[in-house]
Amino acid sequence: LAHHTRRPSSATANLQREPHSMNLFDLKGKVAVVTGGNGGIGLGMAKGLAKAGADIVVAGRDKAKSEAAVAELKGLGVKSAFIAVDVEKEASCRALITESAKQFGRVDILVNNAGINIRKQPEDYTMEEWHKVLNTNLTSAFICSQAAHPEMKKVGGGKVINIGSMMSLFGAPYTTPYATSKGGIVQMSRALATAWAKDNIQVNAVLPGWIDTALTKRARLDVPQLHDDVLRRTPAGRWGVPDDFEGIAVFLASPASDFVTGTAIPVCGGFSIRG
Ligand code: NDP
Repeated sequence: LAHHTRRPSSATANLQREPHSMNLFDLKGKVAVVTGGNGGIGLGMAKGLAKAGADIVVAGRDKAKSEAAVAELKGLGVKSAFIAVDVEKEASCRALITESAKQFGRVDILVNNAGINIRKQPEDYTMEEWHKVLNTNLTSAFICSQAAHPEMKKVGGGKVINIGSMMSLFGAPYTTPYATSKGGIVQMSRALATAWAKDNIQVNAVLPGWIDTALTKRARLDVPQLHDDVLRRTPAGRWGVPDDFEGIAVFLASPASDFVTGTAIPVCGGFSIRG
């Protein structure tokens, strides 16, 4: 106790930290922007954040799907609104953050989750397809983070959560631009984490395993045997579901993770550690 109450000397000044609020996972009063928050993993994360008390901006393209998500989030007792974005476009990403701050008064948490895949052999991609995947999955996350940085500084800090993949770690023959973008997400998170630690902004990546969403329904059609391969390799013995992402979202968005930055955390039922 004496150690904790001692006045900081010059030698210990940098060892001090702010005391935590009573509830380490409390997000009341915080505002989260979730790209692709209208379904799949993004909505799973948005639900976790809302249950912890955060107000949620659902950012996506599909209006009907987004409005259904907003209604579900409002049912959890928080404020929520749909703000349309096409993350392939720089101006749209910047407008999303500006509009979120205008409508909600602040931006504390950014979840860069919007993503797509185009599955082909590497020799068959057009440059247009390559850029579409890189722009959607990686460049958009950089632009949204860059736009959110001054908003987070204004409120004394923030949390950026970037969505990677098992393809951040592994390769696969049919997914070169996607794996490139998801590897980039991990390195971008590390670089931003080092740059923005001084602003009390923590930047981390989440690497989902195989999760049952619209994206992987398509993959199961494109890649024969995928379903059985995933079951065989995943120690948990099942596909993940979007609700599996509620907990990691709350952890990485809350004071519980204030000394956690630049990491890439697999949420994969053990897929990534199976020998
Ligand atoms: P979904 O297809 O359900 O979600 C993708 C989301 O991205 C949708 O909400 C979609 O919104 C949004 N989106 C895509 N393109 C754009 C765009 N140009 N502008 C705005 N929003 C866009 O799939 P998942 O939930 O599975 O994917 C979410 C993230 O998780 C992705 O980054 C994906 O790569 C990653 N991931 C998923 C895994 C899985 O097994 N499912 C495994 C590893 C990573 P809208 O419908 O409005 O277009």
